[in-house]
Amino acid sequence: MAFLSETYKVISNGSPAVKSQIQRLPRDSEKEDGHSVPLVLVEEPSPHLKCTVCKRLYNDPVISVKCGHTFCRKCAFKVTHCPIDGQLCDTSQLVVNRIVVGQIEDLLIHCQYGLTETDGDHSPDPSGCQEHIVFGKREEHEANCVFAPILCPNNSGRCGRFRKSELDRHLEVCQFTPCGHSEKGCEFVSTAEEVRKHEDTTCGYRGLQKSVSFKDFSQQNRILEENNKELREEVGLLTQRVELLEGGRENMQKQLTACTSSLLALQQKYENIQGLVEQLLNGGRNRRSTGSPGSSQEMTRLRSTSSSNTAMVLRSPPTSPSKVEDWQMPFQFKCIGTLRGHKDIVWCLATQRQKLCSSGADGLVKVWDMETLSKGCIKTLEGHSKVVHTMVASGDILYTGGSDMSIRAWNMETLTQHANVEVWEAKTLTHKHTISGLHHWVRAMCLNKAKDRLYSGSHNTIDIWDTTGTFDLKGKIDHTFGSVYSLAITHQYVIAGTYNQNIQVFDVETKQHTRSFQGHIGTINSLITSLSGRFLFSSSIDKAIQIWSLELMLPIQNLKRHEGSVNTLILLGDYLISGSEDHEIKIA
Ligand SMILES: [Zn+2]
Ligand SMILES: [Zn+2]
Ligand SMILES: [Zn+2]
Ligand SMILES: [Zn+2]
Ligand SMILES: [Zn+2]
Repeated sequence: MAFLSETYKVISNGSPAVKSQIQRLPRDSEKEDGHSVPLVLVEEPSPHLKCTVCKRLYNDPVISVKCGHTFCRKCAFKVTHCPIDGQLCDTSQLVVNRIVVGQIEDLLIHCQYGLTETDGDHSPDPSGCQEHIVFGKREEHEANCVFAPILCPNNSGRCGRFRKSELDRHLEVCQFTPCGHSEKGCEFVSTAEEVRKHEDTTCGYRGLQKSVSFKDFSQQNRILEENNKELREEVGLLTQRVELLEGGRENMQKQLTACTSSLLALQQKYENIQGLVEQLLNGGRNRRSTGSPGSSQEMTRLRSTSSSNTAMVLRSPPTSPSKVEDWQMPFQFKCIGTLRGHKDIVWCLATQRQKLCSSGADGLVKVWDMETLSKGCIKTLEGHSKVVHTMVASGDILYTGGSDMSIRAWNMETLTQHANVEVWEAKTLTHKHTISGLHHWVRAMCLNKAKDRLYSGSHNTIDIWDTTGTFDLKGKIDHTFGSVYSLAITHQYVIAGTYNQNIQVFDVETKQHTRSFQGHIGTINSLITSLSGRFLFSSSIDKAIQIWSLELMLPIQNLKRHEGSVNTLILLGDYLISGSEDHEIKIA
């Protein structure tokens, strides 16, 4: 415990309070210099606590061992002899008087923040701290005293200190109140009221986001430098990789060039071979088609440009011979229209010149003009009382056969019923079948005009009949693929669509099975080939139409536009026409 004060004043409890308006208080720095911390006792201390040398309260009391009297330590050094008994004062023989120290520490004093000063005299301030504290606990109390002054946060140098209760009043008038956006950089300073006006109207920093404060700059700089280093390393790695890739790319380009030239050579060879094949085919076709001139129309191909029926262009010299299609791979069939009119399943289709005939479960034969398809059905032929299963056009006559046990013939020019074909004619064929010993349904038949042969598909067999008049059995293709539902013939192949075993290809000469076409799921309802025999079209109950190349033996296109089993297909020039269980006929 240090006794810093050499001047003190005693004010008794009963003395009238000294009124003072002075609010300025001593500063912390002045406390270092002990003389300025005022000590004001609450009661007059006992005379035994006063030094006989300086007549004041003991400051650091020590006993002179020689005579036993007590002095302040400083006073003991000032005197040579004890003022009470005159004995020599030996400063080497001084002992702290602990009893007096304890008594002084128990004295009640005023808090320094409860005092006011007038001409160097300190007296209690009724507006300050009113606590009486024991001298020994003074520092402890004053460190936490709520009356201790606080520096003005706006400008400690210019404004100084204020008691807590006075600070709020000061802040209202403080000239150094900063703008609320000072952290963003605003340097405006004024009274609180002026600052409020400034913030609401003229402050240029109002809308800005809080920016990085100056303190953060070195930290930020360090982080950015680290990031920069990492990025440079990454760029280095990426540069290496790009160089590697560029090397690879050059290699690939060389290989690509090599491949391209090989491909060009192959294409050249392919074209040469194709030319040869077409020459051969044309020779064969011309020989065969002499017997049936005008059986097909020639159409210009407008697949990629035509999207509506009305845009179709037809050139149809009626007397020209059948023309082999000149489709060059790759080509594509696109659905260009849907014919709606049938109220039930479409089972069969036939064409004659520009006319398309369709029929099915509704028993009606509808005739459409290929040149004016957009105008709809041009004629509905009524006559059959039940489902029409099949129809065939020959010359100007359309033959239709149905569940009502009748075969009807229609004149295609006048579109009227021509005759009722006698049922027994059909029975003659049935008769032949019986002779051959067939025990299963015949679901598919196909004519090979070049060889005068009729092929009929049955269960596990395809029978070949002579069509020159006798209908003798001329051959048989035995197989294990189950029931044959559709048949097609080219100069090379007999192609059979089966109940559930895909499409099977047999050699027309050797009658050996050569290949299976996988792709459809379920029964193959219809098979047709292009005139040249290069392409095969198949339709199935799986709602799809598949186009195959018989040269490559590969599927080349899948058409899936119907919403029901596709029952029948027909090819008219460059148009593929399909009839379906969904009552619709689509043209591709
Ligand atoms: Zn003294
Ligand atoms: Zn003495
Ligand atoms: Zn206090
Ligand atoms: Zn201030
Ligand atoms: Zn501002």
